[in-house]
Amino acid sequence: MLPEPGGVFRSGAAVSESRTVTADTVILGGGVAALWTANVLKSAGQSVVVLTNSPLGAGQSLAAQGVIHGGLKYAVGGKLTDSSEELADMPARWLAAIRGEGPVDLSGAKLLCDHQLMWSLPNVISKTVGFFGSKAVRGRSSGVPRGDYPPVFDTPAYKGKLFRIDEPVVDPVSIIRELAKGVAEETRLIDWDKNAALEVNDGKITSIKLTENNGILVTLQAGQFLLAAGAGNGELLTQMGITEPAMQRRPLHQIIVRKKGLPDFYSVCVGTGPKPPMVSTTHLDSQGRTIWYIGGDIAEQAGVARSKEEQIEAAKALFAKLLPWIDLTGADWFTWRGDRAEAHTGTGDRPPGAYLKRIHNVLIAWPTKLALAPNLADQVLAQCSTAESRDIIRLDLPSPCPGTPPWDLP
Ligand SMILES: Cc1cc2nc3c(=O)[nH]c(=O)nc-3n(C[C@H](O)[C@H](O)[C@H](O)COP(=O)(O)OP(=O)(O)OC[C@H]3O[C@@H](n4cnc5c(N)ncnc54)[C@H](O)[C@@H]3O)c2cc1C
Repeated sequence: MLPEPGGVFRSGAAVSESRTVTADTVILGGGVAALWTANVLKSAGQSVVVLTNSPLGAGQSLAAQGVIHGGLKYAVGGKLTDSSEELADMPARWLAAIRGEGPVDLSGAKLLCDHQLMWSLPNVISKTVGFFGSKAVRGRSSGVPRGDYPPVFDTPAYKGKLFRIDEPVVDPVSIIRELAKGVAEETRLIDWDKNAALEVNDGKITSIKLTENNGILVTLQAGQFLLAAGAGNGELLTQMGITEPAMQRRPLHQIIVRKKGLPDFYSVCVGTGPKPPMVSTTHLDSQGRTIWYIGGDIAEQAGVARSKEEQIEAAKALFAKLLPWIDLTGADWFTWRGDRAEAHTGTGDRPPGAYLKRIHNVLIAWPTKLALAPNLADQVLAQCSTAESRDIIRLDLPSPCPGTPPWDLP
C-alpha cells in the first residue's frame, strides 16, 4: 500500500494517518545478540529500534547454559585455536558488565558462579594434567587441592583430577531481563503477518512498514538494519533473496535433572574424545527448585537421534558410569530440544567466532555463542554510520514479554 501525498494511506473506505521515522539502526531480533548490541549502540548515542516477533530470549538465549567461555574448553584437545583466542577476553568483559562497568549494565543480573571445574576421568589424568600445566593456560586455571573439593566430588570414589578454570557462568534469565531493561522503550513486539512488512529493493531494506495500535501507519527507515534474529535470520534472508551468507542449524538435546538438595555443579568433564562427555550447570526454576542442566557430547548428534525417553535413559547411564556416588533416586528428568543457529561453515563445524557481514544497508549477524555477544556488538558498532540523533523513537506497539527457560516450560 502506498501513501498518498500528505502521508495519508487509503485502503477502501478507511483513511489512516501515516508518519515516517528514521532510526540510526533498526535491529530485528530479541535474544542476546539483538539486546546486547542495542544497548551498546544506544550508549554510543544512536537511536535504536529493536523489533522482535517472540518473547525475549526465546530460541537459544534462554536455553543457553550461561557459560562464558574463555576458550579453554575448546583448547583441551590441543593448542589454543582461533575460537579460543576470540573468546579469551569475554569472561573479563562479562564480569565488568556484571559489576556495572562499561556500556552494558548487567549489575542487576546474576553471576551463578565465577568459575567452572574441569574434572578428568581417571583414564585421562595424564592428558589433563599435561594440558593444565602447559604454558598456554597458566594463569587461567589451577589445580584444586583434595581438601577443597566441592560436595559433588568430595568422595574417595572420585579418582580423577579437578582443575578450576576462570570461566564464569551467568544466569541467562536475569541477563535477558537486564539487557531488555536497558532498551525497554526501544523494543517492540511485531507480527509479520499482521502489523509489519519488510520493504526490500535491490538487496537493500528500504523500510519496515508498521501499523501501530492506534492505526497509524509508520514507515520506519534506518541508516542500517541489523538482522540478529538467530534462527529467524534464515527466513529473513530468504525473503530478501540473499543466499550468501547462509545459515546452519546444529541441534542439541539437553537434559534437565530436578531434585531437592542438589549441590552446585558447574563443570566440564574431560574424557578421551574431543568433546566433553558432559557439561553441567545449576539453575533455579521459577519455583525456586534446583535443577542440573546437562549438555556436552551427550546432547550432540547421538543424543539428538534419541527419543526423549531414550535420552533420559542415556543420561542416567552416563551419571551412573561417571559419577556413581551421586544419588539421583527420585529425581525428575526432562529433556529440551533446540538448534544452535549460526553462519554456514560448509563443514558443519561451529564458526570460529561471532559472525557479521554487511550487504548494502543490511548487517547480518550470528554471535555463535552467548559469550561472544560483546564481540559481536563491537563489530556492529565499528560498521555503523555515525549517529545522527539521540531521540528515542516511540512506537505504539506492544512491549514483548520475557521468554521461558527450558526448565520452566510445561
Ligand atoms: C542448549 C544450548 C546451550 C547453549 N549454551 C551456551 C553457553 O553456555 N555459552 C554460550 O556462550 N553459548 C551457548 N549457547 C549458544 C547461545 O545460546 C547462542 O549463540 C545465542 O544465544 C544466540 O543468540 P541470538 O540472539 O543470536 O539468538 P536467539 O537467542 O535465538 O534469539 C533470536 C531472537 O530473534 C527473534 N526473532 C526470530 N525471528 C525473528 C523475526 N523474523 N523477526 C524479528 N525477530 C525475530 C526472537 O525474539 C528470538 O528470540 C547455547 C545454545 C544452546 C541451544
